[in-house]
Amino acid sequence: MDTTSIRMDFPILDQEVNGHPLVYLDNAATSQKPQSVIDTLVTYYKSYNSNVHRGVHTLGTLATDRYEEAREKIRNFINARSTKEIIYTKGTTNSLNMIASGYGRANLSQGDEIVISPMEHHANLIPWQQVAQATGATLKYFPMKPDGTLDLEDVRRTITSHTKIVACTQVSNVLGTINPVKEIAGLAHEKGAIMVVDGAQSTPHMSVDVQDLGADFFVFSGHKMLGPTGIGILYGKQALLDAMEPVETGGEMIDEVDFYSATWAELPWKMEAGTPNIAGAIGLGSAVDYLSQIGMDAISEYEAELGKAAYAIISKISGVTVYGPKQRAGMVSFNIDGIHPHDVSTALDADGIAVRAGHHCAQPLMRRLECGSTVRASFYFYNTLDEVETLARGIKDAKEYFG
Ligand code: PLP
Repeated sequence: MDTTSIRMDFPILDQEVNGHPLVYLDNAATSQKPQSVIDTLVTYYKSYNSNVHRGVHTLGTLATDRYEEAREKIRNFINARSTKEIIYTKGTTNSLNMIASGYGRANLSQGDEIVISPMEHHANLIPWQQVAQATGATLKYFPMKPDGTLDLEDVRRTITSHTKIVACTQVSNVLGTINPVKEIAGLAHEKGAIMVVDGAQSTPHMSVDVQDLGADFFVFSGHKMLGPTGIGILYGKQALLDAMEPVETGGEMIDEVDFYSATWAELPWKMEAGTPNIAGAIGLGSAVDYLSQIGMDAISEYEAELGKAAYAIISKISGVTVYGPKQRAGMVSFNIDGIHPHDVSTALDADGIAVRAGHHCAQPLMRRLECGSTVRASFYFYNTLDEVETLARGIKDAKEYFG
């Protein structure tokens, strides 16, 4: 990974924070944006800002073309069969809520089961709690091993013939665990359940093939993969989306409207009510171009190196607990004995190091780990081994300062 030239594409990285070069290690929360994505947004607003699928004027046509071209880029990026299966949303949270209300509430009833993992982000947890409460279905959890991984035999035992939905994150946003979602999807399908994959932490960092994974639904956010905020994707198998009622209704998603009834547009537009985030979608297309040019396999290999190095260095510091398995994606969650994660994060910030401290929207997981919160350093391909070492030095300094 030629990080020297890559970092020149990310203007925000070239700055000092509190008198130190910025070390941005909060990529699991949101990634930074390359100049090409920023330029795409500026060009849209400066040269062809218009609504899509409405006007037949030149700017409107250009905006519509770019918006739909971005959809095709995203389809190709995750290897969906058709652009009908690529729905623009506000992000992962919005996508999961749409699946829960559009599919879950419509198809589940008393006696049915929803199975999720104990390491889910609240976005892939609370919508299922709500579906369970509304339909009388039962919410169940896979067991999790002490190292923060899932055991496929446990998964097999937990999914039963009553299970209708299995929902699991591909990569944990706290532990960095990479879950075997393809195998889990296979076990779900054996029992007649559908598989929902939360790809918020995987899509930015590894090659994703939704057909190979066997995902029935797959969701992710643009802002964690170099794109703008407020744009995300709901991938769904066409047959499932065809059978779903629109979650929202209004402009853009209709075919014909009469005084007392309406019919729906084809997919994907049936699921996209109202004026969409046009700049966001086009910007996400530009982010996908950038990532594809670097190559997702190269990105995941490089980040695994960073994750491994960080785990090795940080877990050797006395009084530091690192959570999650050795084999991990590019992130490390940890705690220093006797020091609150917010204090650690504040001390690191004084050294220009941006990390996240808190429960990471995974409070049930925190309970399982028996800590209220952790410090999380999460990497992207523009981070370097030097930055990992700077982090380790910062942790040692924080320990000394508070110790
Ligand atoms: N799922 C996981 C695993 C995440 O890490 C996140 C964000 O941190 C989300 C869902 C929610 O994503 P968003 O806030 O972009 O909707």
